Amino acid sequence: MNREDFDIFRNSNLVYFDNGATTFKPNVVKDEIVAYYDKYTSNIHRGDYNNSVLVSEMYENTREDVRKFINADHVSEIVFTSGTTASLNMIAFGYFYDKLSLDDEILITESEHASNVLPWFVLASKKGVKVNYIKLDSNNEVSIQNVKSAINSRTKVVSIAHATNVIGDVRNIKEIAKICHDNGALLVVDAAQSIAHMKVSVKDMDIDFLAFSGHKMYGPTGIGVLYGKFNLLKEMSPILFGGDMNAVFNKDGYYEWKDIPTRLEAGTPNIEGVLGLRACINYINKIGLDKIYKYEHDLRDYLVSQLRELDFIKIYNLNNKSTTVIFNVDGIFSQDVAIYLAKYNICIRAGNHCAKMLKDTLNISNTCRISISFYNTRQEVDVLVNALKNINNIWKEIL
Ligand code: PMP
Repeated sequence: MNREDFDIFRNSNLVYFDNGATTFKPNVVKDEIVAYYDKYTSNIHRGDYNNSVLVSEMYENTREDVRKFINADHVSEIVFTSGTTASLNMIAFGYFYDKLSLDDEILITESEHASNVLPWFVLASKKGVKVNYIKLDSNNEVSIQNVKSAINSRTKVVSIAHATNVIGDVRNIKEIAKICHDNGALLVVDAAQSIAHMKVSVKDMDIDFLAFSGHKMYGPTGIGVLYGKFNLLKEMSPILFGGDMNAVFNKDGYYEWKDIPTRLEAGTPNIEGVLGLRACINYINKIGLDKIYKYEHDLRDYLVSQLRELDFIKIYNLNNKSTTVIFNVDGIFSQDVAIYLAKYNICIRAGNHCAKMLKDTLNISNTCRISISFYNTRQEVDVLVNALKNINNIWKEIL
């Protein structure tokens, strides 16, 4: 649906099933960015002339749009970053670095993306704390029982994806938040893979910190969001220092920072990214996340039903509420399948998908991943399935 909103589909027979990596950008997002450069290029928070005042206003209004989109309480709980990775690193090193002490524990899972593993590993080695894992169940998902078994009085933070980027399982964040808070731990949620596909309400879910990227929600690359509950964010230290975030400094080395969120946005920010983010949020709101959710899940059901007809395909995440399907073709390396499909203009992802620990749990090192969006169609699924039916041509096609 809404394919006409995307110029990239014009005169193209590209079948794009790699939306988990990044999404296409609707024209309204591009138009917003071009308008910034063509009509009112200026820096924010610095100029006393019209364009700077206007762009500063648009930048700050975007904070309000994000606040509403994730149902946060205050605009000052919204910090613009370069993406999920930056947000998660800021949470680990700007907040937890000062809070954790020897023998404290961090809980994650083995199916987290590298960006939600490595900051914690590095923090753990610097602070002498431990990283532990919530066990995955037989479907490689997080059960409430396993969260309860893993958490203990030394656990200070649980950091998990809302939806994972490989299995695509959607975690019960509200229940997990309750367990965290009952045990004196904070909950960090990586919403990179869920934010464009289902409603995320930080208030209803009682999330302490949230991270997501613009480029996976039809917005520009290089822009993301860090949300933190007001009282927590107040205690977050900047990890970058420079212009705009400081209130005063002098030659004696004295300095004071501004209040949140500006304190956490040092230097000239990604202004075009923020304006593009505003456009994509408005765009998603216009279509409606409920409608998107329903469409994408109907399409996933159709995709799964068609793939199941092919007895040489093994699907690893049959029944879940995500937009991804991961599979392998009997006897063919996943990357070869992706290269073969690319010959038919079909884009899928192959490999370990930046969730490198999962391969030990799944007992397979590589998979093919299809990740769908509302602009994908049943016809595209048919094109994919037909290409897979002829997979015996693979060696002719790719050698
Ligand atoms: N977490 C998850 C679950 C992801 O899928 C990704 C991107 N693949 C990230 C974090 C990192 O996002 P970014 O590269 O936009 O910072």
